[in-house]
Amino acid sequence: MSSLFKSRILSAVFFLLSGLLAAPVLAGGEVNIYSARKEDLIKPLLDDFSKQSGIAVNLVTGKEEALLQRLQSEGANTPADVLLTSDAGRLSAAQKAGVLQAVKSETLTAHIPASYRDPEGYWYGLSVRARPIIYAKDRVKPGDLSTYEALADPKWKGKVCVRSSDSVYNQSLVAGMIAHDGEAKTEAWAKGLVANFARPPKGGDRDQIKAVAAGECDVTLANTYYLGGMVDSQDEADKQAAAQVAVFWPDAKTTGVHVNVSGAGVTAHARNRDNAVKLLEFLAGDSAQRWYAETNNEYPVNPAIPPSATLKSWGEFKADTLNVAKLGELNAAAVRVMDRAGWK
Ligand code: FE
Repeated sequence: MSSLFKSRILSAVFFLLSGLLAAPVLAGGEVNIYSARKEDLIKPLLDDFSKQSGIAVNLVTGKEEALLQRLQSEGANTPADVLLTSDAGRLSAAQKAGVLQAVKSETLTAHIPASYRDPEGYWYGLSVRARPIIYAKDRVKPGDLSTYEALADPKWKGKVCVRSSDSVYNQSLVAGMIAHDGEAKTEAWAKGLVANFARPPKGGDRDQIKAVAAGECDVTLANTYYLGGMVDSQDEADKQAAAQVAVFWPDAKTTGVHVNVSGAGVTAHARNRDNAVKLLEFLAGDSAQRWYAETNNEYPVNPAIPPSATLKSWGEFKADTLNVAKLGELNAAAVRVMDRAGWK
């Protein structure tokens, strides 16, 4: 036998084995997930789910827009049973596109507060992310800060860093403000904020935090898990930057801190609908909620589960009780407002 032939046989055997390993035949059948969340953020949870339920999990990860397009073009032929993604804006975009179905589950409604799920059950929040003000400890006193609205005050001229209006996190924040203050007032606010920008928006949430630490600006808006990731980082520069800044919980006396969710919905054409619901129930359950809180510095949706030590160190806050579904409903209005305000 030639060595080339041998290696072909070996690779064929390996291929078969790896195929079997990827999709083990389990008694409970299977469930197929399209996930915009990175594999290392959810894989250990999914492995736990398989072990406990006997249901095999097949995971496809990708970018939010690409997965949504894929679901739309696959239509009734989609292999996906569950769409997992971050931000209520994206969940509601999927709902509007018709790729999700309504699901009722007592377990889900018992574990997930009403403001963190779609009223009709098209999607459920599975982790909470807060978007507070993050400020330079050496240049800003907490007493200088109060609300998101107050960041438009001319006293912050040249001192605000914020990422671009393309970011769904900012779109959702602005959508929340429209829900509370109306479109005209929010537009005036956005104009004031843009006038205070220290630089044209660039980079992600981490980059804004680093810019505050580096003295390019004094305040920013960022999701807490980015700062949590920097605090817990192996990278010395990240750790040092995180040590220069602190969290301020805005709107404590008014509407509360802007919060959003990562979440999931069952697809409109799910072939494994029951397994898909079981998976969502597992992700809303105690062990999975604890894992989210410890591993990714997100807040559990289930209020009975404590957040990570890093999150606890920033203190408690009042979260906005607006249903996050509103953030999706008002997304188009938010984009218009930011556009008119010249928020790049
Ligand atoms: Fe993120």
